[in-house]
Amino acid sequence: MTGTSVIEIDRSALIHNLNFIQNYIGHGVRVSSVVKANAYGHGIEEIVPIAESAGINHFSVFSADEAQRVFKVKSDQSDIMIMGWVSDDDLEWVIKKQIEFYVFEFSKLEIAAQIAKKLKKKAIIHIEVETGLNRTGFTHKQLLKVVPFLNKNAKLFTIKGLCTHYAGAESIANHVRIQKQLKKYNQVYKWLVTRNIIPEIRHTACSAAAITYPRTRMDMIRVGIWQYGYWPTLETYIQYITKQMDKSDPLIRVISWKSNIMSIKTVRTGEFVSYGTAYLANEDKTIAIIPVGYSHGYSRSLSNQGRVLVGGQSAGVIGSVNMNMLIADITNITNIKRGDEVVLIGSQNGINISLASFADFNNQLNYELLARLPMSIPRKVIN
Ligand SMILES: *Cc1c(COP(=O)(O)O)cnc(C)c1O
Repeated sequence: MTGTSVIEIDRSALIHNLNFIQNYIGHGVRVSSVVKANAYGHGIEEIVPIAESAGINHFSVFSADEAQRVFKVKSDQSDIMIMGWVSDDDLEWVIKKQIEFYVFEFSKLEIAAQIAKKLKKKAIIHIEVETGLNRTGFTHKQLLKVVPFLNKNAKLFTIKGLCTHYAGAESIANHVRIQKQLKKYNQVYKWLVTRNIIPEIRHTACSAAAITYPRTRMDMIRVGIWQYGYWPTLETYIQYITKQMDKSDPLIRVISWKSNIMSIKTVRTGEFVSYGTAYLANEDKTIAIIPVGYSHGYSRSLSNQGRVLVGGQSAGVIGSVNMNMLIADITNITNIKRGDEVVLIGSQNGINISLASFADFNNQLNYELLARLPMSIPRKVIN
């Protein structure tokens, strides 16, 4: 059976982006490729081997189930780090397979200690500290309990890293908050070292922090959106580009999403298109029906807003995006027939459709649309 759309992954684009990032950051800093949320919709199984061929040997995920998927396709040289959720039941597998994981709950440390003792294998942990995001991470008060526990059970743990996450490094509006977080982090690091807790590496930066705040890069950066060819925000792009002689965007988008026209028809002036009254034809219109809707990850918020490429030209999405279909206005595009290729994300004839159509740098929508691309759409690696 063929699905209604296909996602293409451009191998050479990912390699290019990772090489660019590594050169820009410097070779002394390890780049961890963040592949949570099915590698931001690109596909874990597709992305991991390509990233490895670009020299990446560290992968970050959110949860143990994602770690398992990376584990199945990675080489022996690569490490996996879980930045979020591991159930108590999964912890045994995680420690057995020597997967690194964040700790931010004292009870998890206790359970990890028991399992490590039983398996005679150290638990490889990253101590997450609360520095101001107010999400996960040990507070100072909690650390007062963590430190003696780790000192007492030193044989059961490898203290791989000390980490934190910034509260919006992609916007200059958060500058003061980020600086405070960095300061707090450095204080905690020093404080831990004086108590004989010596993390092997320090890491705090996501893409935006790595771009905007060089001091956050430390020993490793955790790069998500950037490697896939997107600047986290317009602000981060400007941060980068104003310092460059060459004003062209060095990134290449890795993902394309394509479908085909399933039906074409004309609509008379004064008729509404699709459900309700979202779109009224103000002239005779030719419309193309495309078998992709919100159940396939094409956001309903792109109703009357999105753009697709047909016949090498850009066509507006009209009416509401349905569960399984969307409708594009092809009135002014000639020689279109049923079966023709439709590009939802990517390029055709040199024109590019970014994710969010109306705002290329609307990162909120970029992150969300990518992350919600269903696993069931087939991924095809090209180039
Ligand atoms: C998702 C995530 C990242 C990567 O963020 P990008 O903005 O995509 O680079 C880094 N660190 C943590 C803890 C994350 O959850």
